[in-house]
Amino acid sequence: MRKLLLVKYGEIYLKGLNRPYFLKTLVARVREAVKDLHGVVWLHDARIFVSGVEDMDECVRRVTRVFGVHSVCPAVEMEKDDFEAVKAQALEVMRPYRGTFKVEARRSDKHFFLESPQINASIGEYVLENSEGRLTVDVKHPEHVLSVEVRDQVYLYADVIMAVGGMPVGTGGKAALLLSGGIDSPVAGYMIAKRGVELIAVHYYSFPYTGPQARQKVLDLAKILSSYVCGMRVYVVPFTEIQMDIHAKCPDDYTTLIMRRYMMRIAEIIARKEHCLALVTGESIGQVASQTMEALCTTDEVVNMPVFRPLIGFDKIDIIHQAEKIGTYETSCLPYEDCCTVFTPRHPATRPKMEKILEGEGKLESERLIAQAVANAEIIDL
Ligand code: ATP
Ligand code: MG
Repeated sequence: MRKLLLVKYGEIYLKGLNRPYFLKTLVARVREAVKDLHGVVWLHDARIFVSGVEDMDECVRRVTRVFGVHSVCPAVEMEKDDFEAVKAQALEVMRPYRGTFKVEARRSDKHFFLESPQINASIGEYVLENSEGRLTVDVKHPEHVLSVEVRDQVYLYADVIMAVGGMPVGTGGKAALLLSGGIDSPVAGYMIAKRGVELIAVHYYSFPYTGPQARQKVLDLAKILSSYVCGMRVYVVPFTEIQMDIHAKCPDDYTTLIMRRYMMRIAEIIARKEHCLALVTGESIGQVASQTMEALCTTDEVVNMPVFRPLIGFDKIDIIHQAEKIGTYETSCLPYEDCCTVFTPRHPATRPKMEKILEGEGKLESERLIAQAVANAEIIDL
């Protein structure tokens, strides 16, 4: 007998012929997540198992954050030839519980001497009789379910801890997240990563207008995100010269929008270098002037790859809730300035005219500025 973690996956179930590929990737992600806990991870019979970890609570915390995992169950694994011992262990598993319960057997070993209803009845009766009044049976709406999975071994568990869901990172391609220090972009990155997408982050940094604390804040946000995706590369791109130039030469009400267009252009170059297939931003329609539909069209227009905006239809309040849930909210709320806030015009254009944008950009040495920003980007691997 030994204790281990039984890991259930979600949507991968729907996969047909390429399910083995998704499973293999998921196992690799679980393995990375618990690497330093010295456990063993393996796939067997549609379940992933983790055993031998020193700290099971930490193991649960880590594995429930791995995209692709539906839920985890701390379980007991037993030989199935001694059914009396299985019943006794079932009673042990149910010892912490009070109230109503039922037994739910799943018999993948079709040669096992009892069928599922018989397993339910036999173990249920034993637990009921020996629980000293703590438990009663309710098969319709039980408070607790004792699961008994009969495979090569028998697995017993009563605790099912929900995990993040999604798809294993690496199965959905790679994208570049434009990561600011705000609330939105970390949530946007999380949502795309959750669909199995590997991420890099690109951050625009306007030193000395934004200080080292603002830079550190973004790296802290990236670190939180990277804990879900098992590591992330961050490009910190010097943006001061571009911003100063835009500020000096372009109409005031167009500066934010033109700045966004440069952010997109630079991100695309970095994305291609890193074999990313798309950009990701935290924009949502109408949130600010640079996110009216007209404005979004003008930023889309400068790049030749899809721009994913997973928050496009989200209210700010919903984004905040999500940020709290994934653990980025507190860091996002730290007060350090972002490069956008430093140079915000008083009356930004909400219905921008393309001629005015092009006229403004025509005054800038775009090619040199962009090449220089890309060349001087600092690369940090988290
Ligand atoms: P919030 O709206 O919570 O302040 P935000 O990150 O959405 O945060 P916006 O000014 O609305 O800030 O920017 C819209 C999008 O542009 C961001 O979601 C982000 O993807 C990108 N962006 C803004 N500033 C930067 C920056 N300094 N570096 C990288 N990307 C940025
Ligand atoms: Mg925003």
